[in-house]
Amino acid sequence: MTEALSINELEAELADRESRIALLRAEQVVLVQRAEWAQATQSDGSRSMEEWVQARLDVRPEVARDLVLASRRIARHRTISHRLADGRISFDRAIATLRYAEAGATPEQVDESFERDLGTVSRLKARQRRITTEDESSLFTDRYFVVQPSLDESTYRMWGQVPGAMGRTVEKAITQRADELRLIAESTGVSSTRGQRQADSLVAIARDSLDAEVHNRPDVPDGRASGGQVTVFVDASVRDAAETSAEIMYGPRVGPNTLEAMLCGGAAVNVVGLQDGVPVVTSRATRAIPRAIRDRVAHRDGGCTIDGCTSRYRLQPHHIVRVADGGTNDIDNLTTLCWYHHHVAIHGSGYQIDPESPPHRRRLLRCPLGNRGPPPRSHDPG
Ligand SMILES: [Zn+2]
Ligand SMILES: [Zn+2]
Repeated sequence: MTEALSINELEAELADRESRIALLRAEQVVLVQRAEWAQATQSDGSRSMEEWVQARLDVRPEVARDLVLASRRIARHRTISHRLADGRISFDRAIATLRYAEAGATPEQVDESFERDLGTVSRLKARQRRITTEDESSLFTDRYFVVQPSLDESTYRMWGQVPGAMGRTVEKAITQRADELRLIAESTGVSSTRGQRQADSLVAIARDSLDAEVHNRPDVPDGRASGGQVTVFVDASVRDAAETSAEIMYGPRVGPNTLEAMLCGGAAVNVVGLQDGVPVVTSRATRAIPRAIRDRVAHRDGGCTIDGCTSRYRLQPHHIVRVADGGTNDIDNLTTLCWYHHHVAIHGSGYQIDPESPPHRRRLLRCPLGNRGPPPRSHDPG
């Protein structure tokens, strides 16, 4: 090939070599198949045929993978195997078409694909991918979801894997709720990330589920869903509000924000102050907001009082002066908030209600977390 060749001739020569490569690959495919039958992997402890081929031929993992795939499957697809054996298609095209066929393309679709460029065949294959019954049932069997608390239960990690259809259901529910939360946050100046909103959304969905369960039980009075009296131990020697930590009896350690949320939510909380581990002060159990007061506040406010918020979701009275700071159940100390503003923006993220803002158009102030008055000590609610 030393004489000058025209471009057409060069092209023909190149195509000819590619065709020869295809023929050689076709021969390799047959040899790989025989090696597998002979249980070649057992000779050197390779974990897979792909690994064995890769090591023997010193080729990239993709090439080994393609050779093994072809050795196992190409015989089922005659139009492809014949074309490869004749050198009419390149090895790469044989593999792309094989994958397309294996994904469920009909013989007619496979025939048509020989007219398309390789990139198109790969795209067609991605669209075609049909999950076999076998794949499907193992995907379903392998489904799992883990909710794992840290040792002191101050955080939880969650992860898992479910089949596509189940995953889409979960994703749709979470995204839909997160979108609602985004609208509330944006229209009232609360900053939040997408990840935070998705987490909030998951919790809101869980809350709904628990409440639905309670509402279906005639023995549980309305509104006192989370049930029972909670005893909380607080380290009375800690004077810095930011460091207040409390431990729920038989439960997780919680920080000052969660404690205040419990007190504000009117859960029957019994606060026990500890000095060096010894109980020194015990408050009376926090009285829940009386029904009549709740109703009056709800009627007065008619919805979430945060300026710009139209959410009606899980409206609850909130104590403007914190319960831990001596805030009472007096009607003037209560304002109605939706779940997002109450639990996410205020008790969760540390926003506070601007006391200067008008009662029905409350504004939120971004406050540095933790800088919120003295820690809860012995107090006399109501
Ligand atoms: Zn509150
Ligand atoms: Zn709101």
